[in-house]
Amino acid sequence: MDRNDFRERLNWNACVECGDCLVRCRYMSFTREEAKAEMGKVNRGEPSRALDGCMSCYACNAFCEKNAHPYERIHYAWNDRYEREGLPARASYLMPSRQPNFREDMSFTDEERELHRRWAADDPPARTVLYPGCNLLALPLLVPKAVMNVLPVWGRWDLCCGEMYFRMGILSKVREIAGRLTRFYRGKKIDEMVFVCPAGYNMFTNVLPQQFEARFSFRTTSFADWFMRKVAEGAFSPKRLSGDLVIQDSCHARVLGRDFMESQRRLLAELGLTVRETPRNREDGLCCGMAAGCNSYSAFDLLRHGMRNIRSLDRAEGGEIVQYCTGCYLTSGTMRLVNPFGKRLTHLLEWVGRALGEKRPRMLYRRAFSVLKGIALHALPKYFSRKRFRL
Ligand code: SF4
Ligand code: SF4
Repeated sequence: MDRNDFRERLNWNACVECGDCLVRCRYMSFTREEAKAEMGKVNRGEPSRALDGCMSCYACNAFCEKNAHPYERIHYAWNDRYEREGLPARASYLMPSRQPNFREDMSFTDEERELHRRWAADDPPARTVLYPGCNLLALPLLVPKAVMNVLPVWGRWDLCCGEMYFRMGILSKVREIAGRLTRFYRGKKIDEMVFVCPAGYNMFTNVLPQQFEARFSFRTTSFADWFMRKVAEGAFSPKRLSGDLVIQDSCHARVLGRDFMESQRRLLAELGLTVRETPRNREDGLCCGMAAGCNSYSAFDLLRHGMRNIRSLDRAEGGEIVQYCTGCYLTSGTMRLVNPFGKRLTHLLEWVGRALGEKRPRMLYRRAFSVLKGIALHALPKYFSRKRFRL
């Protein structure tokens, strides 16, 4: 992979080594002078504390006023590490292309399997479709039936957007996925792809086309914008709900920007719900913990950062927690199993379903338990293994 390709595309030369990105990082503690020095090392391709301590939360891209993409510069250096050293054995269980992996170990009900089967058609069921992504495939009953009637879901596991590889800096896999998705969607009759998952939305809208030469002919829309548009057109008449919810923003939402984050809040407010904030929120909010495994592939890091996040949500004002990223929801579900004494976790789609008069079975804890069990059985025993592998 040619580093100069990215230098040009991602505006790396615009970096003035001001240090803003690392000074605002919530996971490492740098003085201004240290932050400047560490970014200088990152820019020169030298070893840096930033490369070791970064947990891939993506927020520094939102902090950089020069749009110089510090996030990619840090974690693309991880790609060099991967090319040199491969991955530790404990990372294998997290990789969708390895077996066993945590996705294949999930057991689904008959109703969920039937949804997977219906969603996996080769050709699109409508010109506007909902892309499920891996996270919604893991929790398919989150999609309200009334939504599916207007917005058919179309997608399957092998059309994964590659977000996990991107976050780990395994760029050859991301490039491979960009090519596969370009070939799959070429000539398919769709005008618009709607995304609940901010990760899938950002990958299809920005990362894959801008960095990995994917080409898609459809436009991309976030679910919140699509749903509010349909309400305005009269396709849905949601009833007013009441509730007092503390909101979690996702890592991708921070780089998608304020409009994206505000549209999630507007949708909840339009349903009659009161949205509360954590003391650190939006760009400065905490990661759910999922990204914490991306640097050291450590389940302990994931647990540590995931618990820190859920504690901050539990301490904030608001009766329940609402998350719009299904990955955050699943990750926080595993944290709630470890610490069950806190606020109830809810997903934005559950509130939409409720406003449309539906109540579907909650599969969160069952799925979260299978993720925890899989990690305990397949990743932890390899924790101290010296074996390495390449994808
Ligand atoms: S990446 Fe941006 S915020 Fe970070 S040092 Fe460079 S210019 Fe400053
Ligand atoms: S990605 Fe997050 S953890 Fe890593 S340097 Fe940027 S702000 Fe810090």
